[in-house]
Amino acid sequence: METLMMRGKAVADAYREKIAAKIAVAKGQGKEVSLAVVLVGDDPASGVYTGRLVKMAESLGVNAKTIVLPAESTQEQVIAEITKLNMDESITGILPMMPMPKHINGDAIGAALAPNKDVDCLNPLNAGDLYMGRTAWAPCTPRACMATLKHYNIELSGKNVVVVGRSNVVGKPVALLLLQENATVTICHSRTVDIASHLQKADIIVAAVGIPEFVKPEMVKDGVVIVDVGINSVGDKLVGDVAETVAEKASAFTPVPGGIGVVSNMMVMDMLSRNL
Ligand code: NAP
Repeated sequence: METLMMRGKAVADAYREKIAAKIAVAKGQGKEVSLAVVLVGDDPASGVYTGRLVKMAESLGVNAKTIVLPAESTQEQVIAEITKLNMDESITGILPMMPMPKHINGDAIGAALAPNKDVDCLNPLNAGDLYMGRTAWAPCTPRACMATLKHYNIELSGKNVVVVGRSNVVGKPVALLLLQENATVTICHSRTVDIASHLQKADIIVAAVGIPEFVKPEMVKDGVVIVDVGINSVGDKLVGDVAETVAEKASAFTPVPGGIGVVSNMMVMDMLSRNL
């Protein structure tokens, strides 16, 4: 069986062209597009991610700035910073880096964002619109999954899709987006009994578990389509939530690294440029 490797770069490149063109036109009309990333504390992984995001934004002509607040900042101080950015007309989009330090409630930070500047769908009003099926504006990683499936012409209507994971940033919103595309969606999580029995019926599996190689070949049927959202550090390697050997049974799969992660950041830029 021919297996399609759904690389993220091709998806991101297709978006890059469209987004860069929109931004160039807007700039020609005197409009600025700008992203503010709010980073609380000095978590190295968040720092690396922020750096990549800023570089990508700048390569598209977006003005990007990072506001770094000390780890001991109070929730009120972070909200005050967000409120300033909400009111700053030169700022198009705001992205608070999650997770926040433990003493700060991430939900409260999301709720403080002006809904029209909330590029990662953290505000409950935006999440509510997604829940109601009024919009496909969702957090960047679920949108990256959908953009990848669309780019590689994977049919969704009527397909049995199993999503493993139900977080607010990946599992739940990707399930809603799949439902909008008329898939029949099953969501599995840590209390699901006999996950393999669900996975074996799946035409498409979206794995967002955070456990290295959680999905194994014997759990899936031949010809399955795999979207592997997982990014796990194992020794000096990055591995997904799906074992590499599953690819031998799949008709299409996203590699890790080089799959969904590559598309996710571009989705932030897509959100920033949506109203141009
Ligand atoms: P998370 O918040 O930790 O959620 C993990 C989900 O997996 C939870 O719903 C949990 O179930 C479920 N789960 C945990 N153990 C399980 C088990 N043994 N069997 C079945 N389900 C289980 O993680 P997340 O933020 O959604 O991220 C998931 C993965 O995606 C991680 O590897 C993360 O690094 C990666 N990620 C990638 C990107 C990207 O751009 N590619 C972006 C974000 C995240 P319960 O709800 O029952 O606890």
